Amino acid sequence: IWGGGRERAYQEILDEAQQTLIQLSLQSQQQVQTIQKENETLQVKATTDPLTGLANRARFNDFFDDQFVRAFKLQRPLAILFIDLDHFKQVNDTHGHQAGDEVLKSVGKLLKLAVRNIDLAARYGGEEFALVLTETDSNAAAQMADEIRQALQAEQIPFDKKTLRITASIGVAGTDRTRIFTQAQQLINAADRAVYAAKSAGRNCVRLFRPKPAPVPVKQNP
Ligand code: GH3
Ligand code: MG
Ligand code: MG
Repeated sequence: IWGGGRERAYQEILDEAQQTLIQLSLQSQQQVQTIQKENETLQVKATTDPLTGLANRARFNDFFDDQFVRAFKLQRPLAILFIDLDHFKQVNDTHGHQAGDEVLKSVGKLLKLAVRNIDLAARYGGEEFALVLTETDSNAAAQMADEIRQALQAEQIPFDKKTLRITASIGVAGTDRTRIFTQAQQLINAADRAVYAAKSAGRNCVRLFRPKPAPVPVKQNP
């Protein structure tokens, strides 16, 4: 009898220990889940523009660099669109900074809907946006750019009992026309120059970067 009681006590201690272990393991599982969630939140914060919800500049750089290397290696087409809002400063000056923010949000929504999930829509800077279009040649990108331009032009943005309108100048550059682009930055510069050309041409239009054709040697008579 005495020995039996001792065994019971021993069993109780074992059971208790097991319960404690289970609880501890549940706790640490929960802790791991909490940390994972926190990491995800941080990841989103680090890569997203808070105003528009689009990818931020850092995310654009990462994504674009990766895609450029891939396109270059596999000789696949890759295009970018640079979208600069026209006379955006006037929106702020006329209707206030908050109105400007509403316009940016609205543009962000439109751009997010315009791209496929293999592409990237980013806020590049203040009122400048960039789209990375994978597996897309220059002509298709230019066509898409013009559709976006038209959609932006048609957009009516409600703000404070008013309706705001905006247009954009869009520069397009693609890797397919030439092999002159050996670095990601060169394609960005080309799209940037195309935006500048669209601004010079009077805004609310699309310009496609075309490299100057290399001079052809002329056969000379002796
Ligand atoms: P252009 O047609 O030549 O591009 O003229 P623009 O007025 O669009 O260009 P500019 O570079 O002169 O002005 C850009 C303005 O964008 C100035 C800046 O105050 C405004 N801006 C930049 N970021 C934000 C933002 O987050 N919110 C608001 N409301 N305005 C912003
Ligand atoms: Mg600008
Ligand atoms: Mg602008």
